[in-house]
Amino acid sequence: MASETPGHETQETLSNLLSENRRFAPPADLAAGANVTAAAYEEAEEDRLGFWERAAERLTWAERWDTTLEWNPPFAKWFVGGKLNVAYNCVDRHVEAGRGDKVAYHWEGEPEGDSRTITYADLQREVSKTANALEELGVRKGDRVAIYMPMIPELPISLLACARIGAIHSVVFGGFSASALKSRIDDADAKVVITADGGYRRGAPSALKPTVDEAVSECPGVEHVVVVRRTGQDVATTDKDVWWHDLVDRQSEQHTAVPHDAEDPLYILYTSGTTGKPKGILHTTGGYLTQTSWTHQAVFDLKPETDVYWCTADIGWVTGHSYIVYGPLANGATSVLYEGTPDTPHRGRFWEVVQKYGVTILYTAPTAIRTFMKWGDDIPAKFDMSSLRVLGSVGEPINPEAYVWYREHIGGDRCPVVDTWWQTETGAIMISPLPGVTSAKPGAAMRPLPGIVADVVDDQANSVPNGGGGFLVVREPWPSMLRTIWGDDQRYIDTYWSRFEGMYFAGDGAKRDDDGDIWLLGRVDDVMLVSGHNISTTEVESALVSHPKVAEAAVVGATDPVTGQAIVSFVILRGSAEESDDIATELRTHVAKTLGPIAKPRQILIVPELPKTRSGKIMRRLLRDVAENRSLGDVTTLTDSSVMNLISDKLPSAKSED
Ligand code: ATP
Ligand code: MG
Repeated sequence: MASETPGHETQETLSNLLSENRRFAPPADLAAGANVTAAAYEEAEEDRLGFWERAAERLTWAERWDTTLEWNPPFAKWFVGGKLNVAYNCVDRHVEAGRGDKVAYHWEGEPEGDSRTITYADLQREVSKTANALEELGVRKGDRVAIYMPMIPELPISLLACARIGAIHSVVFGGFSASALKSRIDDADAKVVITADGGYRRGAPSALKPTVDEAVSECPGVEHVVVVRRTGQDVATTDKDVWWHDLVDRQSEQHTAVPHDAEDPLYILYTSGTTGKPKGILHTTGGYLTQTSWTHQAVFDLKPETDVYWCTADIGWVTGHSYIVYGPLANGATSVLYEGTPDTPHRGRFWEVVQKYGVTILYTAPTAIRTFMKWGDDIPAKFDMSSLRVLGSVGEPINPEAYVWYREHIGGDRCPVVDTWWQTETGAIMISPLPGVTSAKPGAAMRPLPGIVADVVDDQANSVPNGGGGFLVVREPWPSMLRTIWGDDQRYIDTYWSRFEGMYFAGDGAKRDDDGDIWLLGRVDDVMLVSGHNISTTEVESALVSHPKVAEAAVVGATDPVTGQAIVSFVILRGSAEESDDIATELRTHVAKTLGPIAKPRQILIVPELPKTRSGKIMRRLLRDVAENRSLGDVTTLTDSSVMNLISDKLPSAKSED
């Protein structure tokens, strides 16, 4: 770590303040039968492209590639000349191998008792019919199809039908507004929209169709809107509408999956908008399926014959694309697909689902884990979750305390937790423990996966030594990397490839600990500069969450006349903790003790909620506006914009002591 240089305002690296001594070795039986062993790291190091070729061989190719990687920085082509059909790989080949009766999805609707079982043979029929239906509507290879749906089986079926015919899907999360949907339909120039009348959300039907109508009324390029009847609520219709059951049900169950080029586009997905205007991330076919499928079986140690896998994300986010649809299906997995929220009809719903299906692998987000912590340990304790064997986390840095809680209260202290770092842009997991190999540290993503060359560098692009912090970069292309930003190569170059020569810049801060293991430290845009020290939001938040009274925390740097920036903390207390007069002092002292006096917050505000994006991530830039008494920036990507009023109300009573 660089020391403070006199005369310089800033350090060129991030401070490393948090130390963590807990270690969790892989369970012996898991290690003994693990899909991937430590040898994979060496193999990939010796021959990285050979490693990815072997991973690609897990798929069924209609024609083998002739060049593994064509790299004209920053534009990559993987498996050049290869041909394959993604839907065939995810569905048909399992049926042909005699596994048609195997369950692909246990679908669980939000209303209790509403469930469907979809086997691989069912999926093959439904995907074929839907592919025929799209073709009847005039959808051809390369056309864009916007998908705006609840978490029902027709959602993955729609993705696979597009992939089958080579149409490019653009899924827009079903919680987005009409204007967000419109701008995404426009940007991708989608010709067809697939939607539903509504979905179930917190115990009631929640309409989707009116939002689509509003958006589509301003999108003349949309020719057809296909509508699934899910809730049966009344919907207005337009002359572009066709009911899914009228269109799809009468189609032939036969559809020939023609092979597509390895570099043909598979989908566009807009990033979740935590930092600003969403970018249309473009993913292609062969490399994407290779890395999603390889990582899914490696990181979760998936045994397709016996595991029941559940990723709780929404398919509207990349996590759902890669780890509910493409990775698991390519691997022939049995998954749970859940429509609703974790607290409907009660706060034990997730654990009830785990118990009902005997879920063995659970993949969820820190925001959910912290919510469960807040609700209390007694809720998961009521359910039998002994089937679980591997737990995963994605989406934000997981605070060590949340990690340990997850391991103990959900994983019964026997399941390894894999903290997986990746992005919409990376397409698949990049940095993560391997559950049968890694002695994991709570809060650390640990090491780049075999075949991935990631690094932490200072602002001069030099690797930081162990113990140092800086910027997370990827030094070599990887199969599932984004190929560009849809329609905007220049923005692709400027955003990801211009900060450091020849390296992909992810926008996240990270540190390497004394053992060389990687810890994610949050977005570099959020880093706080306090008295010349770059302090990460993650470390201070983790220190706050390690206090027994705190469930969740967000910190920001606010302008301060003395220190440049000062740390302002927004804290949600645990269910059992009482708000008291001296809690702010107690927490400030706790942070100073855990991380050192430099990280002591200037203010602590106890709040009922934090502003989050629709994907559940804390949006710190809005908190910065509050902390600096500015009018709020763009709140349109917030789940609930009224949260900001609740938080602003707290400000006058903020305590600032020293
Ligand atoms: P936008 O790019 O529009 O601001 P976003 O970055 O939230 O949106 P995603 O691609 O869904 O959109 O999220 C990727 C980001 O999430 C990463 O860059 C990182 O900041 C965070 N992230 C994901 N997984 C982890 C993890 N395991 N540990 C730490 N951070 C993570
Ligand atoms: Mg991002």
